[in-house]
Amino acid sequence: MKASNMFAPTLREVPADAEIISHKLMLRAGMIRKTASGVYTYLPLAWRSIRKIEEIVRQEMDAKGGQEVLMPAVQPAEIWQESGRWNVYGAELWRVKDRNGRDFCLGPTHEEMISMIFRNDVRSYKQLPQLWYQIQTKYRDERRPRFGLMRSREFIMKDLYSFDLDEAGLDKSYNLMYDAYNRVFTRCGLNFRPVEADSGAIGGKGSHEFMALADAGESAILYCDTCDWAATDEIAGREPLPVEPEEMLPMEKVDTPSCGTVEDVAKFLSLPTNRIVKTMYYKADEQLVIVLVRGDRRINEIKLQSLLGCNELELADNASLSTGGQKVGYLGPVGVDKIKIYADNEVPLMYNVVVGANDGERHLLNVNYQRGDFRIDQTADLRYLEEGEQCPHCQGHVKLARGIEVGQIFKLHTKYSDSLHVNYTAEDGHERPVVMGCYGIGIGRTLAAVIEQSHDDDGIIWPMPVAPYQAVIIPVNDRETELVNTAENLYTELIAAGVEVVLDNRQERAGVKFKDADLIGYPVRITVGAKALARGNVEVRLRQNGEMQEVAVAEVKSWLQDYIAAEIAKCSIN
Ligand code: ATP
Ligand code: MG
Repeated sequence: MKASNMFAPTLREVPADAEIISHKLMLRAGMIRKTASGVYTYLPLAWRSIRKIEEIVRQEMDAKGGQEVLMPAVQPAEIWQESGRWNVYGAELWRVKDRNGRDFCLGPTHEEMISMIFRNDVRSYKQLPQLWYQIQTKYRDERRPRFGLMRSREFIMKDLYSFDLDEAGLDKSYNLMYDAYNRVFTRCGLNFRPVEADSGAIGGKGSHEFMALADAGESAILYCDTCDWAATDEIAGREPLPVEPEEMLPMEKVDTPSCGTVEDVAKFLSLPTNRIVKTMYYKADEQLVIVLVRGDRRINEIKLQSLLGCNELELADNASLSTGGQKVGYLGPVGVDKIKIYADNEVPLMYNVVVGANDGERHLLNVNYQRGDFRIDQTADLRYLEEGEQCPHCQGHVKLARGIEVGQIFKLHTKYSDSLHVNYTAEDGHERPVVMGCYGIGIGRTLAAVIEQSHDDDGIIWPMPVAPYQAVIIPVNDRETELVNTAENLYTELIAAGVEVVLDNRQERAGVKFKDADLIGYPVRITVGAKALARGNVEVRLRQNGEMQEVAVAEVKSWLQDYIAAEIAKCSIN
């Protein structure tokens, strides 16, 4: 490609509406342009990288026996009504009507669609297992589209679905995909980590998210500094540590004026926050419930919602408390009789705690569940695990990192085969529900994550396997025939050798070309200048570390081929 013809509208200014580095750099490097909120055009440079990521994904899916298909983005409402998700999915489902008023949606995912294909054409156990995948555009009318390709409303996803005879088969498919995902993200040059993830309403163990580690990540990951345990903060938890028994002291009511928070109470009573039990009122589908948690802990609403099995969950405000006008901050469980009380696992083990007194600005001291001072209807793990706590699996300690979810794999078991009646005829002649799994990779989000991890003040630093081009040739002066000819000849030679190279033949100052080269992030810059050329050399500069060296013109091709091969090998996996 010659830069004079290349459509890469680079920008010197940082665009105002871009918050994170990858978004800024993709706009500045002329890779993407916004069409509407969360809807983007991929310009040539982005599209080249996207196609490379897709190719890596294809190779790894195919290697595990995946077969590529392409399903429509437009899906009839009926299949979503059949699975029950037409209502459950809510506003994120992008609904459309055809000219006859029939309902459709633009697919946010394809479990229903692929189940239908299976249901219509697969009959016998002899045809199983099957692994079908596609690389296709998805639509989700996200509440907060942002960060460019990271969270958009139209985006490219690879989604694979596995169909197996039984749970053992599913385990096998899941493990194949777990391995394939590790290979994909390694080959994309990402620093990532698979973590145990929430499997939502489906329950049971059986989901991992693949997290690219980056400060801009929207997800929090907890991991052990000693063993290899890691999980998202949504599900990370541990058994409560044993508590030293204490003598249960007599309960006492004390004034605690203007103490609206746990910290205020602790300070006023000169106690640590872990001696206090927080009492929170929640509205779960209009039903009021109480949740108790140690004062220094945070309630994990994802765990709470999955325990309660409700669709809507929100903190109840003052007005909706049916507690006789009690103030938030002074609520407690003692004497409450009509409302269901849920407690985090740590609460019933605690001695002599402080709780709100439900009586003006007062608290109760020395409250003991074990003495029957208050009631708990159900205990469960309802809190976030915190950095610094002991690892759930070993003596190590928990650390916190931020991550970008680039992929997720999921055991669906028979969730969809049950609701959509997707069966096969088993060897014994009986109809059985097929056991399914689903596995997604965000292609655009992966690209954004690569840039998020690999850049400097001047621009993008591509890992070789996903770089839009591998090298750029810059003649420093476009009026000197010898330089221009050398650059042209080198370009022709490299193209013939299969190197993905750009010749920057624009009528621009060298400084402009260098700036663009750094911004776009070509892994290798080959500068053709008079001084080095007098010695028969060109100057080769590596984008990743700025190292420069002279290479004889005749050697450039083999030097470059070796370098490219070595860089790709760095991202390979056995
Ligand atoms: P998130 O929690 O970030 O909303 P999700 O868990 O809903 O994502 P999945 O249904 O697991 O996403 O989709 C598979 C993959 O598709 C994700 O791992 C992510 O890489 C990508 N993805 C999901 N939503 C978006 C989006 N709005 N924009 C870009 N990529 C997305
Ligand atoms: Mg996910």
